[in-house]
Amino acid sequence: MKGIGGFYYVKASDSIYECKARGIFRKEKITPMIGDKVNIETDGEKGSIIEIMPRKSSLIRPPVANVDTMMLVVAAASPEPNLFLIDKMLINAEINNITPVICINKTDIKKREDIEEIYSKAKYKIFSVSAERQDGTDLLMGYLKDKTTAFAGLSGVGKSSLLSIITNGELETGSISEKISRGKHTTRHVELFELESGGFVLDTPGFSSLEIENIKADDLWQYFPEMADSQNKCRFRGCSHINEPDCYIKEKLENGEMAQSRYDSYTQIYNKLKSVKEWKKK
Ligand code: GDP
Repeated sequence: MKGIGGFYYVKASDSIYECKARGIFRKEKITPMIGDKVNIETDGEKGSIIEIMPRKSSLIRPPVANVDTMMLVVAAASPEPNLFLIDKMLINAEINNITPVICINKTDIKKREDIEEIYSKAKYKIFSVSAERQDGTDLLMGYLKDKTTAFAGLSGVGKSSLLSIITNGELETGSISEKISRGKHTTRHVELFELESGGFVLDTPGFSSLEIENIKADDLWQYFPEMADSQNKCRFRGCSHINEPDCYIKEKLENGEMAQSRYDSYTQIYNKLKSVKEWKKK
């Protein structure tokens, strides 16, 4: 559930055990992560982690294992959504084997059918909510049941407001409280919060940029769900979907089955990945 100063707090049945990791992990250079499923040995309230189960996913920033869903919170307005950043966050989740979901908050200020359209074409699940009016939040909470969900979003989008509703005010996160009592220190270690209805949520620190790296430019299309069925449908094998004729993706774009902003993100990241590779060769 959380780790502080070399201790790991492991939930088993309805108790929390304060555990150390067995020495063997250090030798094997494995560190338990928040979210790990583990076996422990215990003789009371304390124990030690003796086995870490294979991870379904593992994020580096923040370090957390077995996240099922990345809830990407954006605001309908203020701050205005940054589509390129949203696309990079979506790809990052896809690369890490985490299902991304988009949550448009502050829909009391503005409706965002445009964003709903872009991302429903991309086959993403979308929630439109207002934390302020508690509109749509029940539906969102229903979706979280029995999953481990990481909440991510630019600062100011209302992530803390949403997490507070979802956890009945129990999850102490950054922004709101920082504003209410200036100078109040809110701890920013990673911690899973267990929902009454089943499942876990966690907050991830605000971000303002993200680089997509460690994938090949030619694999990038796989992380765009609306492009992922393109294999063997273009005239050329290994089509990059940029300059080649008779390209299935270009057709999708012309038919309006893929949003221009998504395609622009694709080409921008593709070119960047290519140029980094060329540079590394030199
Ligand atoms: P965070 O930085 O993403 O954690 O955002 P906060 O939860 O701290 O919210 C940022 C600001 O947006 C605060 O002033 C909130 O009161 C406001 N806010 C949050 N949700 C909504 C909403 O649904 N509608 C409107 N109009 N304002 C909201």
